Amino acid sequence: MESIHEKAFRLIGAGAVTIRFQGDHVIDADVHGDHDTYPVVVEIGDRARCMCPASGDCSHLLAVLAVALQRNTGLPPAVTLGKVGV
Ligand SMILES: [Zn+2]
Repeated sequence: MESIHEKAFRLIGAGAVTIRFQGDHVIDADVHGDHDTYPVVVEIGDRARCMCPASGDCSHLLAVLAVALQRNTGLPPAVTLGKVGV
């Protein structure tokens, strides 16, 4: 079975992550998942929420964090995904 890291990597590769706003403290994004599009809101240093049915950490959240880190650092998703690991 695909791990949430593998799925996040696949979502990023498919261009499924749209970051609508990325600030110092908040990231607001949409992820086109396999079944639906989920809004993801990350409050840096506080909490992160994805509106999908999965409880806890999910691939959508990971994908958003990895893309945001990629924007800040220029590192490829394979590297940034490792850094935002859960
Ligand atoms: Zn999710």
